Amino acid sequence: MTLVVEGCAIATVDAAGTEHADGHVVIEDGRISAVGEGSTAAQGTRIDARGCLATPGLVNCHHHLYQWATRGLSQQSTLFEWLQELYPVWARVDGDIERAAARAGLAALLRSGCSTTTDHHYVFPRGAGELLAVEVDAATDLHIRFHPCRGSMDLGKSQGGLPPDEITEDRDAILAACAEAIDRFHDPSPDAMTRVALAPCSPFSVTRELMAETAELARSRNVRLHTHMAETLDEEQFCLELFGVRPVEYLEQVGWLGDDVWLAHCVHLDEREVRRFGQTGTGVAHCPSSNARLGAGIAPVAALTAAGAPVGLGVDGPASNEAGELAGELREALLVARIKGGPQAMTAREALALGTIHGARCLGRADEIGSLEPGKLADVALWRLDGIDRAGIADPVAALVFGARPIVDTLLVGGRAVVEHGRLTTADEDAVARDLAAASRRMQEVAV
Ligand SMILES: [Zn+2]
Repeated sequence: MTLVVEGCAIATVDAAGTEHADGHVVIEDGRISAVGEGSTAAQGTRIDARGCLATPGLVNCHHHLYQWATRGLSQQSTLFEWLQELYPVWARVDGDIERAAARAGLAALLRSGCSTTTDHHYVFPRGAGELLAVEVDAATDLHIRFHPCRGSMDLGKSQGGLPPDEITEDRDAILAACAEAIDRFHDPSPDAMTRVALAPCSPFSVTRELMAETAELARSRNVRLHTHMAETLDEEQFCLELFGVRPVEYLEQVGWLGDDVWLAHCVHLDEREVRRFGQTGTGVAHCPSSNARLGAGIAPVAALTAAGAPVGLGVDGPASNEAGELAGELREALLVARIKGGPQAMTAREALALGTIHGARCLGRADEIGSLEPGKLADVALWRLDGIDRAGIADPVAALVFGARPIVDTLLVGGRAVVEHGRLTTADEDAVARDLAAASRRMQEVAV
């Protein structure tokens, strides 16, 4: 089946930064077969995209979908205060809450032009059911490319960690569950809709042994590694006290720097650490809204990029970024970079590259997604430029990034339209919102 998208501006985000003022994209059997200026003689179903900008579908590198059921809480807290207030609430998660939260979170991502997302799930209360399977089901249903990261916590309060012991798991059980998640869900094929990564939660909730053994398991199975890193100064202090080194040095000791690793936040890095990220190809999921919401600081994105480290964007969990949509993070990334580094610190096109090709690099998929080029998977976002929120901005990429937080007009994932005219085609949005409200009430009520 052939699809022809035409009449739109196109930002391909390829290595040369190729753009077309009025171009076309041809899609055959879920892959891009041609991109170019003007119209095309190719035959097929036509999508009239006049008034739109076509970009690669956005790639979200950090999320906690279950947190959709705990938005708007702990509003003035630091990360550690916020975690300590929310751990007991999160301990109540079960399969039904997970399903409602995941469907809402994935719907919000799709509506914001995101065609590939990760999820870092690390709360597995005893008896809560198969939470990872529930979110994989939700992603399959809504049709988004999904990288579930099997998270874990094994360093409870009684051993000097931050989380209550009740929501930590036994190390052997964690490693067995990680292996099972890979067996069950990981698809290494080039057009995969589901790929698994392993993701112990953070230095203050995971033992040194689990970090090292998880890295060993991931490498023996050829899957990627993800965790939180250098998010706050409290974390830095914690590492100095418990491990005697700064967070990045600790990571290096446990074998966690490398081009198969991407790390959320990385706000508090010194110059030597930035260089190590570049030398090792370690990726970073920059989460500007969440870092602002928790007052954590501003990650050194320009320095990391200059050092050669892949930097993608993440919405982070909606308990620290209630918006939970990715397109707005392009603007947020640009604005916070400029607050720190002045107006030269980031361009609109650099912001778009963070949200697309560099995110794809973090996930090891730069050959498959992240730019509009022949041979790549047909994950394409069409953004309207002719509404009141963007009309008259002559530069289409500036219109997208500088303008109002956009809802995508059309989103293709593997050539299938999952959003049309700004509405999901794969789920009933009103039902998703109703289920989310009920799940949020249940999760928050039972905790008081
Ligand atoms: Zn996070």
